[in-house]
Amino acid sequence: MAQDKESFRDSIGTITEEGKRNYIHPKKPKGKLYKYRTYVSWLLVAFLFAAPFIKINGNQFLLFNVLERKFNIFGFPFWPQDFYLLVISILTGIVFITLFTVVFGRIFCGWICPQTIFMEMVFRKIEYWIEGDRNKQIKLSKQKWNAEKIRKKGLKWSIFFLISFIIANVFLAYLIGGDVLISDILEGPAANLSTFINLVLFTLVFYFVFAWFREQVCIVVCPYGRLQGVLLDNKSINVAYDYKRGEGENGRKKFRKKENRQELGNGDCIDCMQCVNVCPTGIDIRNGTQLECVNCTACIDACDEVMIKTGFEPGLIRYASEDNIAKGEKFKFTPRIIAYSAVLSLLLSIFVVLLFLRNDVETNILRLPGQLYETKGDTISNIYTFKFINKTVNEIEDVTIRLISPEGSVTMVGGTYNVPKQELKEGTLFIKIAKDDLKKSKEKIELGVYSKGELINTTKTNFLGPKKINK
Ligand code: SF4
Ligand code: SF4
Repeated sequence: MAQDKESFRDSIGTITEEGKRNYIHPKKPKGKLYKYRTYVSWLLVAFLFAAPFIKINGNQFLLFNVLERKFNIFGFPFWPQDFYLLVISILTGIVFITLFTVVFGRIFCGWICPQTIFMEMVFRKIEYWIEGDRNKQIKLSKQKWNAEKIRKKGLKWSIFFLISFIIANVFLAYLIGGDVLISDILEGPAANLSTFINLVLFTLVFYFVFAWFREQVCIVVCPYGRLQGVLLDNKSINVAYDYKRGEGENGRKKFRKKENRQELGNGDCIDCMQCVNVCPTGIDIRNGTQLECVNCTACIDACDEVMIKTGFEPGLIRYASEDNIAKGEKFKFTPRIIAYSAVLSLLLSIFVVLLFLRNDVETNILRLPGQLYETKGDTISNIYTFKFINKTVNEIEDVTIRLISPEGSVTMVGGTYNVPKQELKEGTLFIKIAKDDLKKSKEKIELGVYSKGELINTTKTNFLGPKKINK
């Protein structure tokens, strides 16, 4: 018997005993939380679709151009030279999600994750609209291929494909930039073959995920889902079944109007299976917190409706911690939450300080590798390569480099130059310093970068001279 109760641990709801795919047909959710989730999903879908086309100071709001190594986060451009900032922002994000999970469980998955939002709030709604609710879907999938099935499935898959194509466009806009995507589309597939190949590939991937693979992304692929086991503790708030109330002393039992369940020792769960039927990952939350649960709250709504109809208090399934259910404890700050919060505050502070200390222009001047200094009369000359990065949204004109200390001259090969916005300029320059002004054979020198005669950036490099100068 004990083995039976634990048998849910040996299998997942999406795979049959024969190892085949068990296609889940969840009942259409309804209720207060589902309504709130719908509103949140509208906002998030609007944000996801708009973010690659919103500009702040001329910069795309969110851009992850891996190939060209250009990243914009909230309109701040990050260059490869700002990699440390990207690392800190990723670390901050990881600590934030960890802290959030320790306190609120997997709420991110059910309410914010794009996979759940698109699956439950876009594709699933279309499925309900075309095929009807759970029972009709099951009937349709079992029936032979006739005109009705071909029409419904054909229409559903066509719409799924179209939406997958739209999502693929938006996804590509995050990777190559909204402006580039629009101009590539206007120029047509022949002129931009790689963009269109990527579009087709992404469309097929999204179609595969949302039309067939579905909730298995959360169950078998998503690393965050698999981390739950180590992140959650008895104090983490989760979608949970109140087994004390639900089972009573003598377990759950079907509802009979005139029965006094308290006297019989039965709990409030009437074993109606509504919480199971509505679950998009096919689990029974009454078995406790499980890896498959994405905290979508559909079972809370379903159970609350049953509780109200049968005259019981709602909240048999609710957001609660194990300690809240087992011992009636209220939420408390644990040492783990305090430690994570301290690390998160520290990382956030470091990130903000570094973000504001970051220069809009950046100059790197390095001696040409393998080249020795040259002596010309009383002066020593070294050859350098320079890299100037303009992270601003305006062109920087008449850029020139001069020595600040010690005294000397800089000759830029090709003269002054203009650096377009968000561009990088590379070149070669010579620095000449009088022998008498050098104190060491390897001297640290400071250079200034000027635009139209105005100092905009400073940088340091080494200058080599003859050893005999050493004293
Ligand atoms: S158990 Fe409840 S909250 Fe978890 S995935 Fe299923 S319906 Fe959603
Ligand atoms: S919906 Fe509520 S009452 Fe019905 S089986 Fe689930 S927990 Fe029990």
